[in-house]
Amino acid sequence: MDNRTELEQLGEFGLIKHLTQYFPIEHKTTIKAVGDDAAIVEIPEGEHLVITTDMLVEGVHFDLMYTPLKHLGYKSVVVNLSDVFAMNAIPSQITVSMAVSNRFSLEALEELYAGIKKACEFYKVDLVGGDTTSSKSGLVLSITALGMAAKEKIVTRAGARESDLLVVSGDLGGAYMGLQVLEREKEVFKSAPGAQPDLSGYDYILERQLKPEARKDIVELLSSMNIQPTSMIDISDGLASEIMHIADQSFVGCDLYEEKIPVAPETIQAAKEFNIDHTTAALNGGEDYELLFTIKPSDYEKLKGNPSFSVIGHITNEAQGCRLVTRGGGIVALSAQGWDALRAGI
Ligand code: ADP
Ligand code: MG
Repeated sequence: MDNRTELEQLGEFGLIKHLTQYFPIEHKTTIKAVGDDAAIVEIPEGEHLVITTDMLVEGVHFDLMYTPLKHLGYKSVVVNLSDVFAMNAIPSQITVSMAVSNRFSLEALEELYAGIKKACEFYKVDLVGGDTTSSKSGLVLSITALGMAAKEKIVTRAGARESDLLVVSGDLGGAYMGLQVLEREKEVFKSAPGAQPDLSGYDYILERQLKPEARKDIVELLSSMNIQPTSMIDISDGLASEIMHIADQSFVGCDLYEEKIPVAPETIQAAKEFNIDHTTAALNGGEDYELLFTIKPSDYEKLKGNPSFSVIGHITNEAQGCRLVTRGGGIVALSAQGWDALRAGI
């Protein structure tokens, strides 16, 4: 890096002021943002407030060797907003807390906050507070997102009923395959420092990993189509475990059809190259941040044929458990780890 300003030069208050000074406040519900002992947020009549937090730890959730700080800032906000959308709510405020070591310069944190700001602008959320402290080792980021929705609009994981249809937005497995490409290039770099990473041709899956988007458009689309999901969850850990969460919380079972799981051609291509079954990437991979939800059978006509959605299964009773109907017509029990271990038996 060309310019390096040490964090000690600003002190904690100077640093917070510097990093947060260009964040505009857009929401009427934000009464008081950064600068007081606490933020003040108004909850409109008839609405519920939803609150969600995610913590990201260097070396556990991200690797700064191949994650640009600006992307990290953007993604940290997105993963929180995704949880708000999964409640069928609209995010409105975030707080950002970080523990940072003196390994980071002011310029590095400016990059991080540039990413956070970009996400705030794109998703129209206000930065209303946070906390800043030092770390002896890596970077830790904790973001909390607040969102609101009319009380009757809120969707939980608990409302799926027998014969509801299981629907997913977008396509799955891409973020996981993007991570495989980044990990491969990291190994190449470690064994031959100075080697240029070969990332050409992987744009789609790399973007899925490094710059995911939360599906605000899907929440808006469902609303405009007059579809109220009976349950919903965002796909952060992989399709298999998210289906099991809905099943657990709703006390139901589920039949999932392998052939219906949407996987992009770029993901299939990369999976082939890495000798990974692309269904496994979709089921176990995670970090796709698509929305998985159930709808009443009577809502099927409204959504049928819409390219944003894939109907991938249906809800059964609890005793049946969660099952995968494979392309070959076999039936295997789904587990939170996916189904790999079971495939041998088909
Ligand atoms: P306190 O000592 O009362 O916790 P702080 O000095 O931690 O106050 O924070 C001062 C103000 O700056 C508060 O409004 C707080 O929410 C905000 N803030 C602190 N750290 C951050 C950060 N990393 N990003 C955004 N806002 C922050
Ligand atoms: Mg504080």
